[in-house]
Amino acid sequence: MSQSLVIAIDGPAGTGKSSVARGLATALNAAYLDTGAMYRIVTLSVLRSGIDLDDPAAVAAAIGNVDMAVGHDPGEDRCYLAGEDVSAEIRGDAVTKAVSAVSAVPEVRQRLVELQRELASTSGNVVVEGRDIGTVVLPDADVKIFLTASAEERARRRHGQNVAGGLPSNYEAVLADVKRRDHLDSTRAVSPLRAADDAIVVDTSTMNQSEVITHLTELVAQKVGVGQ
Ligand code: C5P
Repeated sequence: MSQSLVIAIDGPAGTGKSSVARGLATALNAAYLDTGAMYRIVTLSVLRSGIDLDDPAAVAAAIGNVDMAVGHDPGEDRCYLAGEDVSAEIRGDAVTKAVSAVSAVPEVRQRLVELQRELASTSGNVVVEGRDIGTVVLPDADVKIFLTASAEERARRRHGQNVAGGLPSNYEAVLADVKRRDHLDSTRAVSPLRAADDAIVVDTSTMNQSEVITHLTELVAQKVGVGQ
């Protein structure tokens, strides 16, 4: 085990990954790193620059200029682009629709993976959440968890969140988007979404958020003897 405890949480959209990763980080008094937020910040920057998303070379060229910052506190993880708080905007529809295309560009991944390794190594105990953390970013993580849930259940949850947040939402459209992103994320050439061979796979379809957090806290305790 490394000196600090590193926990990787991967899985597709809508498994409750973010809430669970935050909850686990809080339970373990650890830092939290949301790598999806980093891809979202780059995507917002690309959209604002008017770069053509179908032009990977132009997207790749833009990555060097993105000035981003992400918070580490699981209770207050703000995201910044050139000093501006973009925490809400990166969760909007425009970014959500474009992020898979931007995150498929190898130069974008290379830059962000470097940054993620640097942040993880300087954060002390940390829960790192994403799609390729256990497989690519931090293959030596102490505990690797891969969360899954059926596409229908994930769409139902996202739709519920949208409605609760006052956002316009249609279940069928959300389900189509979940499936589209799953397909793009799991078939891309660089770092496709998959569970690491040594990951613990947890299906959250029939569990609520606090049950998942309790379950993961127990798994971490069994594996490395902390958190109880
Ligand atoms: O987790 P979240 O839904 O915010 O991630 C947004 C998108 O960022 C994902 O759909 C995926 O395309 C990309 N992503 C990634 N690798 C990560 C984290 C996110 O490709 N480690």
